[in-house]
Amino acid sequence: MHTQQQQFQGAARLLRAARKIVALTGAGISTESGIPDFRSPGSTWLQNPPVSYPDFVSKPEARRQYWATRRGFLAQVLEARPNPAHLALAELERRAILLGLVTQNFDGLHLDAGHDPARVVEIHGTSRAAACTLCDFRAPIEEIQRRVDEGESDPQCQLCGGYMKSATILFGQHIPGNVLAQAKELARNCDLFLVVGSSLQVAPAAHLPRLALKNNAPLLIINLMPTPLDSYANVVIQEKAGLALPRLVEML
Ligand code: NAD
Repeated sequence: MHTQQQQFQGAARLLRAARKIVALTGAGISTESGIPDFRSPGSTWLQNPPVSYPDFVSKPEARRQYWATRRGFLAQVLEARPNPAHLALAELERRAILLGLVTQNFDGLHLDAGHDPARVVEIHGTSRAAACTLCDFRAPIEEIQRRVDEGESDPQCQLCGGYMKSATILFGQHIPGNVLAQAKELARNCDLFLVVGSSLQVAPAAHLPRLALKNNAPLLIINLMPTPLDSYANVVIQEKAGLALPRLVEML
């Protein structure tokens, strides 16, 4: 059993040796920005599961429920600001040792923290935009939310009549092939895979660390609770990301 100090030293060694870090982040990196995650103790998410994609496209009632419950999350996202963990990852990019960042979050906070958008793969989409379920039409989310607030409970696409939803990936919805391919490519090409704030329970994102391990990249996990991949990791730090990441950047 290592002390936390030894874990930080081990993690700093991994970071110092790396030139092509790939980070995978999850909802846990944004809890310190005021956006709750799904699987921390006290979360009510499992009792109120979000609408699935098959239900969204087939049931008007599901779409109404979706839009009725959207407003709270959107308000949290629009108010949230990047926290020290987001900023520390952006600092790794500025130091030219971050090859890319795959995020399961759709809150846009990594982009707010200053990353080059070309290096960020939002594998579950973004809640800053709305997208049509049938054609390529997209609109700012505030515009569609305004229509909902003004009484349209099931807003439709002005071009094709498809259903509008936030440009995020719902359960049961396919991730676009090019997005997944980009994430896998990063995982295969890194020389250190860094997981921050993810329970590693949502596939296919949770499989990315395995791809990196298969290609002999070390694995560093920073997460408050244990994950299913802890036993494969070179170093695990169970600490708040907003404390751990800035401390590690300082140790570089
Ligand atoms: P998750 O909720 O399954 O797990 C979050 C993990 O982060 C937990 O294991 C928890 O212990 C850890 N954690 C919480 N606060 C932390 C902190 N301050 N520092 C370090 N670790 C912390 O999240 P997931 O693995 O991302 O999967 C949930 C799915 O829900 C993802 O698809 C995600 O996109 C989505 N989601 C996104 C947001 C967002 O965009 N901010 C919010 C909620 C859910």
